[in-house]
Amino acid sequence: MLDYDLHCHSVFSDGTLTPTELVNRAAERGVRVMALTDHDDVAGLDEARAVATQHGITFINGVEVSVSWRSHTLHIVGLAINPHFPALTEGLRGVRSGRGERAQKMSDALAKAGIGGMLAGAYQYANNPNMVGRAHFARYLVESGHCKDMKSVFNRYLVKGKPGYVPHQWATLDDAIAWIRGSGGVAVLAHPGRYMSGRNGMGKKTMHELLSEFVELGGQAIEVVTGSHTPEQYAEFARYAEEFNLLASCGSDFHGPGESYRDMGRLPDFPLSCKPVWHAWEKPAITQLSEH
Ligand code: AMP
Ligand code: MN
Ligand code: MN
Ligand code: MN
Repeated sequence: MLDYDLHCHSVFSDGTLTPTELVNRAAERGVRVMALTDHDDVAGLDEARAVATQHGITFINGVEVSVSWRSHTLHIVGLAINPHFPALTEGLRGVRSGRGERAQKMSDALAKAGIGGMLAGAYQYANNPNMVGRAHFARYLVESGHCKDMKSVFNRYLVKGKPGYVPHQWATLDDAIAWIRGSGGVAVLAHPGRYMSGRNGMGKKTMHELLSEFVELGGQAIEVVTGSHTPEQYAEFARYAEEFNLLASCGSDFHGPGESYRDMGRLPDFPLSCKPVWHAWEKPAITQLSEH
């Protein structure tokens, strides 16, 4: 079992726990090294680090950047970033800035579909109002009785082709990787299996094109073991990692009790071919050597 959890969310984006509650939970569940990776914001890192230190957990500064690539929304996780690097903080501010207007449009679209009061409802769940997003809409849609759970709410209202979906322009892949790398961090393609699923998912050819471009732009790792993947997908993306000479990352993508597929920590081991992403910061010299 892996005692690294390098992907999770707090109330500073769309998680339901404070950084303190999240790190306490990680500690209880045997996590030894963790990264907090809130969407498009680094505001929770200081609190999380302070609590992690009390528990003897090694804390890695993280972020999950929203990206638009072709017709797809991708998430790029930055690990071991410097959260004070100006290009990163300014870039993230830019990514966040469109969320308010998008929320307004989502609320208008849902009102047209007969569901009113959504804007105020979603903001009730957004502890960080700059980061209002689909998860906050989803929680309110469940609470107000329009849907029974988070999964059905997305499928019925919040994904492409459904009444509450509003297309949005996030960061470019190029910028997201440049901000992360520029700050000294490692750029990780989050939950790649998700981009291949569903009616609007990409095929294998497009995934190959994405990974080629990702590597060319300085991307260094992909998530192999994540709460979004099945065990078959661990193997599938371990093969992609090998083919593209990418490091492998792992994380629960935990958002809160009762909401996520996986709780913090206790992730199954990587397939044997994987080179763990932490070699990039724990053993940089060895990682460099193995490239030759
Ligand atoms: P946004 O950045 O506002 O588009 O919101 C994206 C977030 O919505 C993701 O990070 C997840 O937390 C959540 N999400 C997206 N799709 C689903 C789904 N099918 N089921 C549950 N949560 C989802
Ligand atoms: Mn989320
Ligand atoms: Mn994500
Ligand atoms: Mn995430």
